[in-house]
Amino acid sequence: MSYKCPFCGELEPSINWLRIHIRKCHYNEPLTCPVCGYRARSLRGIINHSCGRYDEKHKALYYLLHRNTRNTTGAKVEKQMTYLKQLKEVFKV
Ligand SMILES: [Zn+2]
Ligand SMILES: [Zn+2]
Repeated sequence: MSYKCPFCGELEPSINWLRIHIRKCHYNEPLTCPVCGYRARSLRGIINHSCGRYDEKHKALYYLLHRNTRNTTGAKVEKQMTYLKQLKEVFKV
């Protein structure tokens, strides 16, 4: 199973690799939101944009770009697992 970069289409073997790829390759370039077509000047802009949206795809995108699955406890982990599952559905190929 692999996961597709929402910005360039490159395939990565896991969500974590996808996160690393995005940070490495798309951090400082203009990007288009893969969900709605919103244009941002950098990854930061996409994070801020997806943060303010409440549909599942934007939430999954925000989670992919911003959240870290480590260093969390209790109910938060459960919630993050839900997002991670959602995220895998959205980005897997
Ligand atoms: Zn990419
Ligand atoms: Zn969007």
